[in-house]
Formats: sequence, C-alpha cells, structure tokens
Amino acid sequence: MLYDENLFKYLAETDSEIMDAMKEELARQQGQLELIASENFASKAVLAALSNPMQNKYAEGYPGKRYYGGCEFVDKAEELARERAKELFGAEHANVQPHSGTQANITAYLSFLEHGDKIMGLSLSHGGHLSHGHPVNFSGMFLQVVHYEVDRETKQLNYDALEEQALREKPKLIVAGASAYPRTLDFKRLREICDRVGAYLMVDIAHIAGLVAAGVHPSPVPYADVVTSTTHKTLRGPRGGLILSPAKYAKTIDKMNFPGTQGGPFMHVIAAKAVCFKEAMTDEFKAYQRQIVANSKKLASVMMENGFEVVSGGTDTHLFLIDLSNKGITGKDAEKALEKAGMTVNKNTVPFDEKSPFVTSGIRVGTPALTTRGMKEPEMEEIGRLMVRVLENIDDEKVISDVRNATADLVARFPLYE
Ligand code: PLP
Repeated sequence: MLYDENLFKYLAETDSEIMDAMKEELARQQGQLELIASENFASKAVLAALSNPMQNKYAEGYPGKRYYGGCEFVDKAEELARERAKELFGAEHANVQPHSGTQANITAYLSFLEHGDKIMGLSLSHGGHLSHGHPVNFSGMFLQVVHYEVDRETKQLNYDALEEQALREKPKLIVAGASAYPRTLDFKRLREICDRVGAYLMVDIAHIAGLVAAGVHPSPVPYADVVTSTTHKTLRGPRGGLILSPAKYAKTIDKMNFPGTQGGPFMHVIAAKAVCFKEAMTDEFKAYQRQIVANSKKLASVMMENGFEVVSGGTDTHLFLIDLSNKGITGKDAEKALEKAGMTVNKNTVPFDEKSPFVTSGIRVGTPALTTRGMKEPEMEEIGRLMVRVLENIDDEKVISDVRNATADLVARFPLYE
C-alpha cells in the first residue's frame, strides 16, 4: 500500500481534500495502461526520499561551499548524487541541481552562448523539444534558431543533409536529442559535423537517459560538450534535471546554474536523484531498460502487422509514433477513444504533418511505464490487439467498453505500488 496510514495520517488529518486527490490519482495510475512515453513510475524508495526533511533546507552553492550553515547532511546527499551520476554515465562532471529538463537546457545554453547566437535544433514537429529553439520558448526568444528536420522519405535524420545545413548556417551550437524520435542517434557523426563547423555539441538525453545509463543506446558523453537530461522519464527517478560535462566546463556550468539561473536547490529532490542513480547501476535496471526496448519493438510490430503506419518503419528505443492519416482519424480523436478504453497515450504531430498540434495526425506510444509494471512481449501482443480494436472502432461504445474491461483485467494482473 503506497499511502501507509502512519506516514500519511498527518496529511489526512490536515487536508483531506488533497489526500483524496492523491488517492484518486494513485487509483488512476494503477487502473489504466500508461503508454505516455515520457512517464514512468518511480520506486517507493524514490518517493520516500522525495518526502524527506531535506526539503526544509536552504543550500545555495555547492557541497563544501554553501551560503548557508547547517549543510553538512544535505552536502552528503548532493555528493552522493553527483558521484553516482558521474559513475553511471562515465562523465567527468555532473551538476544535479537543475529543477527540470528545461532548466538544465537554460543553464547549458547560457554556459556556451550569448544573446542572439545561432543554434541548430530538431524542429518540434519532427520530434524536437520546445526548449530546442521553438519561438514560444525562451530558447527561441533569446537565440537565433535554425531547425533541422528528418528526411521526407525515411523519416530519419539524414546526417549528410544536416552537415550541409550546418556548413551553410554555421551555428555556434548544435543541439541533438528529441522528445519524439524513435531511432538511434549517431553522436560520433554529430561530433564530426560540429568539428567541421566549429560548433559546440549539446545533447539532450531527457528521453533516453535510462537507455544510455544501461548501455541500451550509445552514450553521447564521450562526444558532447554538454549533456542535459531529465531524471524522471526512462531513468525512473524524481522529476528533475541533470547536466553532465567534461571537467573543463564544470566551473562555468555550475556558476551558470547557481547563481546564474536558479536559487536554492531542492535538496529532497537531489536526495531522490541519488537513490535513482543507485537503482540505475543495478543489473536489474539494465534488464529493465532492455525490456523497455523489446516491448516497444513488439508493440510497434503488432501495430504494423495490423496495417498501421509506424513512422520510420519501426523503433530502436522506448517509443514510436503512429501516423493515423491512412486510417482517416486524427491523433486527438485517437487519444480520446484510447483513454476511454483505459489506455493513456498522447496525440503527437508526425513529420510533415498538415494538422495543427492541437489535432495532429499521430499518436506517440511508449513502454517505460508498462515495463515497470512487469509487462513483457505477451502483454504487448495483447495491448496491441486492444489498441487496434479501439482505433478501428473509435465511435463504437460497445467495443470501447469491452476493451475497457480487458484493460482492467490486464492492470489487475500487474499491480502497482501494492
Ligand atoms: N528535453 C526533452 C528532449 C524533453 O522531451 C523534455 C520533456 O518532455 C524536456 C527536455 C523538458 O523536461 P521538463 O519537462 O522537466 O522541463
């Protein structure tokens, strides 16, 4: 039972409305198939660390060099988090203070760039993230941005085209990494491109951090000037950010994170990051990451066998995109119907999408959360068949209600937080 009566009795007494909302959210998470690629279920150890008295502590600065007294024990937590992050990713330096992935990216840009400098980043509609230069994000407001895209035929990155564009545009920094790109990234090639144009290479592994930590996706650490990440997606830790770099950039990055862009670090979250990094060093975690990818490949292949178009023809990672254009339904309608049937996904634009981001032609599907529940290939077969039934009958209430019963049976077989 996640909400242990002793631990939560204070909350229940003080604020039953919040306690009720938490219980309802827990029941929602337990009761549906979570297929949102950026979500996961952190361990009870991580959740326990998040709820600890370090949350009370101001600790501006870094271990051994704080602007507040009484930091000896939070120093211990941050040292552990930093050392474990370095070991886990084989990095010379780690900053574990960014409050989020976006904050990590703000710090990284400001460490290497001036206002108005030119960067190249993957376009949002081709799988990139808002913080990779989208005009509505600080990155697009503060920098001059040129976007690269995937190839129209293969829907994969074309590194020759990227190189040509970089030689033409001469950006000061190229940001690689994505929120909705299912294929392996070639960091060595990206480094070579950056070297040819004299650009910094920044790699945002927010989505694939768990895969990278487990060696299931190649690591950018040997090639990049700076690597940013979140800790809560495939890495399965608390919500937060992380920056890795060679030692030569350590001082600049640390100074830019604090006092440059943030105030007091969230010491309870840093403690929970340390727990997550420890968990990520185990063989069990490596097997978990391998299973995420095996599940993703299996689910994508069931969809393709049933006539659904998977963007780029498959996946190498924890996620894939389904282009629904040939089925005459929108991502928005698919998301709604699947949710009613007990499967949570998000609508997503596909490369060269003609529909707006509020409607979209596609959905993004990911397996990290289902794999945390212990599901494997046979369950992916089952889920694939259920998704197909819903997507082929999105207005049929009887089908949706039958599938809702089937998803309820399935989640009951793979309990969460019990
Ligand atoms: N970078 C990438 C590639 C992401 O996919 C995301 C989140 O989806 C972020 C950064 C931002 O992370 P956060 O939501 O923690 O700011």
